[in-house]
Amino acid sequence: MTGVTPREKFMEHAKTDSYAADTIKLATLCAHGGTGRGPGTNQPIQPSIAQCAVFDLGSTDDAEDLFSGRRRGYAYTRFGNPTVEDLSKMLAAMEGGAEALVTSSGNAAVLCAVLMSLRGRAGPLVTHPDIYGGSFELAKILAEIGRVPVEFVEPTNTGKWHDALGRAGAVLIETPSNPIMRLIDLEDAVAHARGSGAPVIVDNTVATPLNQQPLAFGVDWVVHSTTKYLNGHSDMVGGCVISREPILPAQRAVHKNLGGTVNALDAWLVQRGMRTFALRMATHNRNGACIAEWLSSRKEIARVYYPGLETHPQATLFRKQMKHGGGLLSFELAGGEQAAVRFLNRLRLVTHAVSLGGLETLATRPTKTSHRGMTPEARNQAGISDSLIRLAVGIEDAGDIIADLQGALELTA
Ligand code: PLP
Repeated sequence: MTGVTPREKFMEHAKTDSYAADTIKLATLCAHGGTGRGPGTNQPIQPSIAQCAVFDLGSTDDAEDLFSGRRRGYAYTRFGNPTVEDLSKMLAAMEGGAEALVTSSGNAAVLCAVLMSLRGRAGPLVTHPDIYGGSFELAKILAEIGRVPVEFVEPTNTGKWHDALGRAGAVLIETPSNPIMRLIDLEDAVAHARGSGAPVIVDNTVATPLNQQPLAFGVDWVVHSTTKYLNGHSDMVGGCVISREPILPAQRAVHKNLGGTVNALDAWLVQRGMRTFALRMATHNRNGACIAEWLSSRKEIARVYYPGLETHPQATLFRKQMKHGGGLLSFELAGGEQAAVRFLNRLRLVTHAVSLGGLETLATRPTKTSHRGMTPEARNQAGISDSLIRLAVGIEDAGDIIADLQGALELTA
């Protein structure tokens, strides 16, 4: 085994095994992966941090080899960095992809994937109204400033959806969507996008690679906000783009010149967070399902949005496409907007804050925070009402979370 590191052994597994069917191997990859440990003793068991902008190029011949692509190496951290590359391999393996590019935020990852997909292609960016508010605003900016034609098409209008996919330049899908947890059939979307040859991008942030593997359904690119479950500790902002096929030089150039690369310390924080990803996710899944069930039984709640519920209108698609429902859910309060305001102000354990995927449970009103940049009409089209509460369920004891929710609900009555 001389020269083969434990991480390389795992990468080898990632290429040959079906991770989609085996979360135990993913859990092992998480716990051991990215250490970059060589064979022998006295090696650090944690990955190191190459906190550096610039690398020695060596001789002019060495520099020529590097810049011409004959030799892999590092020149400048925006182009590549050992810590960031270590993380990119781990992320690619988690999704069963060929390669990954790491970015400075989830929004930078969405932008990078869209531009890489549209490069050299005609046709609109086709997406749907209920995507994350930041992605929605980004698509609007691309349309306004970049003159990229963008179409927001409602997937339940099957005829229109299939028609748009069949003439798209690129497709951006978020499933489950944030915050209304609606699912989109990936196999069906990929089949119809094949008509136009449009690359399909899936934002897998909410599901995570442990609960859903879009590349296994023929999707071309997966994006993540690593700020969420992958890092899991709410202590950095980052993202990534994972590809099914090796990334072409013209696509890499988009990532390099966009400038949204991550710094080594933040990449390391994602790597460290991922060591416990499988463990955390198991609790997010359990708590999410338990709290969704509990909320569904309460008279103060008009509707719960959680794909893992038996009563979810897309329960069949859920079973086909996902393993678990995850930690994010939303609900409508029967008492309307005023009840939602009172509820948020009366929470004690649960924090009123944006974001998701961290250790602690967070609650927010999307109309006033994450989806504020959308017009009321656009929010209405996306199904986001003023009385909607989004709950990012953490890994605390489920009974403690429920006790806090119950206290706040009883006071809103
Ligand atoms: N995609 C989804 C589904 C999100 O929920 C978010 C942020 O909440 C993003 C992308 C953007 O991520 P970031 O805040 O890291 O830019």
